[in-house]
Amino acid sequence: MTNPDMVPAMRRVSAIVTDEGGMTCHAAIVSRELGTPAVVGTKKATKVLQDGQVITVDGEKGTIYEGAVAAPAPAPAAATVAAAPAPVITGTLVKVNVSLPEAAKRAAATGADGVGLLRIEHLILGLNKTPGWYVEHGREEEFISELYGGIKTVLDAFSGKPVWVRTLDAPTDEFRNMEGGEEEPIEHNPMLGWRGIRRDLRSPDQFRLQVEAFKRLWAAGYSNLGVMFPMVNHPGEFVRARAMMKDWGVDVENATLGVMIEIPSSAILIEDFIRAGIRFASFGTNDLVQYTLAIDRNNEHVADMYEPEHPAVLRLIDYAIKACREHDIECSICGQAGSDPDMVAWLVGHGITSVSANIDAVPRIREAVARKERQILLDAARRNA
Ligand code: PEP
Ligand code: MG
Repeated sequence: MTNPDMVPAMRRVSAIVTDEGGMTCHAAIVSRELGTPAVVGTKKATKVLQDGQVITVDGEKGTIYEGAVAAPAPAPAAATVAAAPAPVITGTLVKVNVSLPEAAKRAAATGADGVGLLRIEHLILGLNKTPGWYVEHGREEEFISELYGGIKTVLDAFSGKPVWVRTLDAPTDEFRNMEGGEEEPIEHNPMLGWRGIRRDLRSPDQFRLQVEAFKRLWAAGYSNLGVMFPMVNHPGEFVRARAMMKDWGVDVENATLGVMIEIPSSAILIEDFIRAGIRFASFGTNDLVQYTLAIDRNNEHVADMYEPEHPAVLRLIDYAIKACREHDIECSICGQAGSDPDMVAWLVGHGITSVSANIDAVPRIREAVARKERQILLDAARRNA
């Protein structure tokens, strides 16, 4: 399996094959963004493949060939279409997910209406030192400026469009290999552990450094920056996080602050979150599916049971969308399901206001959104005819 501290190596490789993981594991997310072919969850690649062996990886089909196999040349017309931003205008905003600042230009070239998820842990974990290390060694400024620079690159690429930056969400096992990570607790299940907003609330220094970077970006005029809290399970967490930001000098009344809906409790309590003052909510279906269905998203033994269209997941999503619509709160999706045209058509049909997809999926998602919107209009026109 890959880890965030392996990202520098992942930037250099031609392809990635892992034993473990499902379609939303670290290797899958990062390689999609790097445009690197990857096959994850093979269970046995590290036993079957030998050092120095030449293989060819087809990431589309999930196939690994022995030796060097030439890829078919892409049809020139297809290549042109893929490179051009889709000229389709949709009422539903179609945004893009970004994890690595170096992907910002490619992401913006899709013509996306903003960034629905900027995962900042990839900026931080690439430094190979934990946030705690910077605090302990009096090197906070370095940490803040790394964060500032990485986020700014993305904001610059999406000038005038909303960019929702997610606060740190790194499970403890991803910190452990880094300098300063020796003290990380060993957790039986890091997916259910000390991560996301719950960790920031109990590690004020770590949270404060992130907020300092946001403050400087807002002060520099990047009013398109919104902040999204991950792994919230109770509105009280949102209230506490916002109060801490206020104490550190953020004008929280005018800042765009929202939450990810990744835990069933936050979908169920959506009305309370709205009353608490969220400006937006975004479905993190990668986690929402695993926590609703008890399917570890990184466990290849149950990967075939990982089902974003499970009726329980859809019911939670439908419930939360309805509440957001009633209160005029932007409601979005930034999990992998937002890159699935069928799921996105369903979401548009149920009233979602924006979707955020992977870079490679934006054109087909925009098309799926446009088609569904037209179908809705056509159905309405026929009903009124
Ligand atoms: C999600 O859970 O759907 C999500 C987008 O966050 P991550 O994949 O980083 O956990
Ligand atoms: Mg998540």
